[in-house]
Amino acid sequence: DGAELVKQAKGKGKSHVKKGELGGGSFQSMGLHPSLLRALTLRGYRAPTPIQRLTVPALLASPPRDLVGMARTGSGKTLAYMIPLVQRLGGQHSTAFGARALILIPTRELALQVMKVGKDLSRGWHAGSGGDHAGDGESSTAGGVLRWGLVVGGEGMDDQFEMLTSNPDVIIATPGRLLHVAVEMNLDLRSVQYVVFDEADRLFELGFAVAMNEILGRLPSSRQTLLFSATLPKTLVEFAKAGLQNPKLVRLDAES
Ligand code: ADP
Ligand code: MG
Repeated sequence: DGAELVKQAKGKGKSHVKKGELGGGSFQSMGLHPSLLRALTLRGYRAPTPIQRLTVPALLASPPRDLVGMARTGSGKTLAYMIPLVQRLGGQHSTAFGARALILIPTRELALQVMKVGKDLSRGWHAGSGGDHAGDGESSTAGGVLRWGLVVGGEGMDDQFEMLTSNPDVIIATPGRLLHVAVEMNLDLRSVQYVVFDEADRLFELGFAVAMNEILGRLPSSRQTLLFSATLPKTLVEFAKAGLQNPKLVRLDAES
């Protein structure tokens, strides 16, 4: 019922993560698809940061569980949710209708940065290079590289409509524009299985709370929902209690 989350979130400035949990761990020990491991190496990511070490295995565990990740700016929160996202989507485009993942983020600039990280991780994916890692979308036909779609302010609505007809696997959006598109273009979000609220504290500061709640109402209830933030103010804890199901809280000290 979220009571534990509130209790943990209230501990001021103190991590509930024991020091020992930060040691050890490597990308190689996380059961990642070989294509994903190769992409990480190619990009020069040699070892996971503490937030990645604690969240990636948790997010890939079965059954899927919701998660709140709190760590300072620059701690590597993007890969913390992007690695599991690419792995869960099987690294490839699905011909089934509708986006399978949704990332909500405060600004167009951040959306572009995050899309680049995602594209870098999923480019050059070889489906056959290591066992069955098909992820959740295995009932549908995989075909070609993952498709990414931006739904952010500052782009023409016509261009965004055009983009959405290409059936992107992942939508990266600012909440205001996404809600607008969902209402005006009847964008169906019921296929979304993996939802990320990135920079959630800034989403709130920018006044997106109402839009975010509207979007939650358009998503299927059987989904994995993640919230990442540098800070966890009370409004955010309330939002997480309402929109996430019994989330695991990963909270790191300022130095981590
Ligand atoms: P946050 O979202 O927590 O502010 P970012 O995800 O933007 O942090 O990452 C901050 C920087 O750290 C980026 O330049 C990113 O490329 C780098 N980075 C992230 N993870 C790793 C890693 N495992 N190894 C090396 N650099 C990393
Ligand atoms: Mg970030």
